[in-house]
Amino acid sequence: MVVVKSVSAKHLLDSRGEKTILVSINTNAGKFSASAPNGKSTGKHEASPYKKDLEKDIETLKKFKDYFSDDVVDDFNDLRRIEDTVEGHIGANSLFALESAILKALAKEKKKEVWQIINQNARKFPRLVGNCIGGGKHSGPDTKKKPDFQEFLLIPKTDSVKEAFEINKKAKKEIAGFLKRKDEKFENKKNDEDAWKTSLNEKEVLEILNGLKLPLGVDVAASGFYKRKKYHYQNPVLERTVEEQFSYMGNLIKNFGLFYIEDPFDEDDFASFAKLLKKYPNAMVVGDDLTATNIKRLQKAIDNKSINAIIVKPNQNGSLIKVKSLCELARKNNIKIVFSHRSGETEENILADLAFGFGADFFKCGITGKEREAKIRRLIEIENKLRK
Ligand code: PEP
Ligand code: MG
Repeated sequence: MVVVKSVSAKHLLDSRGEKTILVSINTNAGKFSASAPNGKSTGKHEASPYKKDLEKDIETLKKFKDYFSDDVVDDFNDLRRIEDTVEGHIGANSLFALESAILKALAKEKKKEVWQIINQNARKFPRLVGNCIGGGKHSGPDTKKKPDFQEFLLIPKTDSVKEAFEINKKAKKEIAGFLKRKDEKFENKKNDEDAWKTSLNEKEVLEILNGLKLPLGVDVAASGFYKRKKYHYQNPVLERTVEEQFSYMGNLIKNFGLFYIEDPFDEDDFASFAKLLKKYPNAMVVGDDLTATNIKRLQKAIDNKSINAIIVKPNQNGSLIKVKSLCELARKNNIKIVFSHRSGETEENILADLAFGFGADFFKCGITGKEREAKIRRLIEIENKLRK
């Protein structure tokens, strides 16, 4: 069992150069640290990353350090004790980093891997969902012409994570060649998730990607350009009503054989999601901002038949106990689980263990960049160890 003897926290910079939290704990099993990522296209229903702000959470954790020594943690569910202690005092990023550090300590103390602390019998490897071209909020306000959709995703179907990673890396290189030919403004630049920046619009991008013959996905992140009951496109400039957005999403699914479509509508429009899923039951209709890794919103999405897949970003919630319940509820209702990185990432790789332990069906991450690769490499490491 693990006893947390002391806790400290400080900030570090994420891949975007923004501050995030790193929590370190001193335990009977040694010292352990974990950091949390930062979102940019954050859903309005996500838990707040900090109670008031990052510095205040750092102070609070310091004040709490003596209380944790009463909270003995011997298995995953004992994280509840830690949550009881800090409940309401720190935000989701801080709680996520604290619990992640404790899981690392527990794994060490039990001579196990972190995923085994969650589920000793986990065996299923998630399928990679790799962001190759980006737009929207992840390509920065300084980028004038860009796709309105936030992410274009490659989702190879293979027997191994390693193979999928190789396919995505090769495809991403090839895409740069396509972009050079089609986009006269292409400058080999990458956005927040290390995906290619382009001045092309979503249809032009999908036409290029169609040539790869890989299952394709998009994260529309539609809340980012929804205002006053209309979707405001910039490339080209036009407005779509909710009905027009519905037809447009349907056309893209049909014309490009889209396998995966995330947040095609505003984050409160459960009804349009449901209408799309009813019409295209073979596509993956994925909730991210819609569900915000929140169990009540997942229940609402289930009641409304809005989605058949859910994004799980542990730091959107903070509590790993709640993330576990959310995954159980999703699985019970045949909703695919997509564990996901955030746009502002650190080199923390615990996401791979969480995804594997919680039985994720998909693992959404970038394709390149040290923060993204750290997570995929950890998943491959688990694969190598298990397949030995
Ligand atoms: C997303 O919307 O899927 C995403 C990863 O964005 P962010 O981390 O900026 O919320
Ligand atoms: Mg998203």
